[in-house]
Amino acid sequence: MDFTLKTYKALLYKLQNLNYSFQTFQEYINSPKDRTIILRHDVDKLPFNSLQFAEIQNELGIKGSYYFRIVSESFNPVVIEKIVELGHEIGYHYEDVSLVEKNPKLTEKEVAKEAIKLFDKNLNELRKFFPVKTICMHGSPLSRYDNKLLWKYYNYKDYGIIGEPYFDIDFSKVLYLTDTGRRWNGEKVSIRDKVFNLSAPITKEANTRYIQSFKKTHDIISTAESKNLPNQIMFTFHPQRWTDRLFPWILELIWQNTKNLAKYFLNIIRS
Ligand SMILES: [Zn+2]
Repeated sequence: MDFTLKTYKALLYKLQNLNYSFQTFQEYINSPKDRTIILRHDVDKLPFNSLQFAEIQNELGIKGSYYFRIVSESFNPVVIEKIVELGHEIGYHYEDVSLVEKNPKLTEKEVAKEAIKLFDKNLNELRKFFPVKTICMHGSPLSRYDNKLLWKYYNYKDYGIIGEPYFDIDFSKVLYLTDTGRRWNGEKVSIRDKVFNLSAPITKEANTRYIQSFKKTHDIISTAESKNLPNQIMFTFHPQRWTDRLFPWILELIWQNTKNLAKYFLNIIRS
């Protein structure tokens, strides 16, 4: 079984043994190391799963970045406080555009204007727990607008934010691996999680090579073993997809398969 905590630990051990540093996203933005890994966690739901990740990392002396949504299925003050205590970074997993766009009469610009107010309010809510300096977008596949719409009209730097992975990472240098769809090569089914600039030839070759070769976590581990991984990597984990318990593991499998199928048809319709 892949996507278990056991597999997760095996991955971290391997990367640590291969002398990668682990930096939070904030640390990476401030002073990127040559050989470094950013462990990003999008806490979409089941926040206690993220706490388990935070504990495992803490045992290994590793730090990661945890992005919380403002909705109740993610925003859990007890969990946030504990993850802060363990020394990790907390960030905002924003979706303010999808939260305000329900009113169809609003123009794009009006949606952005409402959403930025909400963004500011929610960011301050999270800053009660941690001096948040980085953010990342929550992909709401069913929403009319992309949550990054905010940055067409406003600048997050005006809100004390120094990093948003979509804008502040050079993905021709940093390999981006995400467990979207509970597989590592699931980019093609993800609508809003695409970060690769597929028009840049060097990036395209490297990305295609890596992404196609990774399906299971063990594929990444064996590539790391043969020293074929790049020096800088951002991993995006959705900890709700990872569990050692069989029943939730199967539920997640069924859910992912259903969702992948739905996204597949949405992609066809949109293109
Ligand atoms: Zn998300």
